[in-house]
Amino acid sequence: METSALFEALSGFVATREWRYIYPVWSRRAQGISIGINLHPNHCCNWHCVYCQVPGLQRGPSPVIDSQLLQQELADCLGWLTHHIHDSIYSLHDCVQDIAFAGDGEPTTSPQFADILDMVAHLMQQRKPHDRPACLRLITNGSQLQHAHIQHALKRLHEMGGEVWFKLDAGNDGEMLAVNDTHLPLALHLQRLQTCCTLCPTWVQTAIFSRTLHGESVTTPTLPGYMEALLPLKQRISGILLYGIARPSQQDLRGCIQATSEKILEKYASTLRTQGFRVRMFV
Ligand code: SF4
Repeated sequence: METSALFEALSGFVATREWRYIYPVWSRRAQGISIGINLHPNHCCNWHCVYCQVPGLQRGPSPVIDSQLLQQELADCLGWLTHHIHDSIYSLHDCVQDIAFAGDGEPTTSPQFADILDMVAHLMQQRKPHDRPACLRLITNGSQLQHAHIQHALKRLHEMGGEVWFKLDAGNDGEMLAVNDTHLPLALHLQRLQTCCTLCPTWVQTAIFSRTLHGESVTTPTLPGYMEALLPLKQRISGILLYGIARPSQQDLRGCIQATSEKILEKYASTLRTQGFRVRMFV
């Protein structure tokens, strides 16, 4: 079975379940099937990004996670995949790009994040290498990297061969506020990115889009500030994932943001490559 057909069949199976924490998706950035772990089914996040696709996003505390249930849902998902890949020439490792902590809020704000990461790591270790997803990944806004327990968890992620995708959408403090709705200064965010790189392989992920400012359309992040922010980290980050807005934002009710053209994304990518960055682009 082709991977895309496998994903369709898996989606059909998931539609018959009422899973709370596990959600397989077709990931354009991971380029295949991704098994998402959602630690915020209450749609609460500590940031409020203008392009966020989470419906009903709100600020609020992380919910208590039923970790037994989460483990059961993940085991069911992997069990279904193993069963349906069984007669294929492909292995689960070939078909499933990652297990990704992502979801409807910032994963690292959950007090149970580290424990659940350990549980997932343990589950992976019990499976044969060809019968595990290719990677364990954390998609994060990086806002909790100053905490020792999160740093410890990222070391564990590294031991598991995992990686981090760290959000950076701004080239100055004003853009951090306008895009991510956080008063966190860019300099502090960059310190956390640097810390993250020392703990686990880290890709920077950046959304590029246009927004209307004083009647004019500007592309965010502004390239000079963004470049200046990243140049000192060039040798530390694994690379940059640049992506455009593919689906409508659930937060931008006044229609202030627009997708950028492929040409603009290419301009960002080629400028960054000229400076020696490894760049992957997703239109
Ligand atoms: S950090 Fe992620 S979940 Fe939170 S508002 Fe931004 S895009 Fe949405």
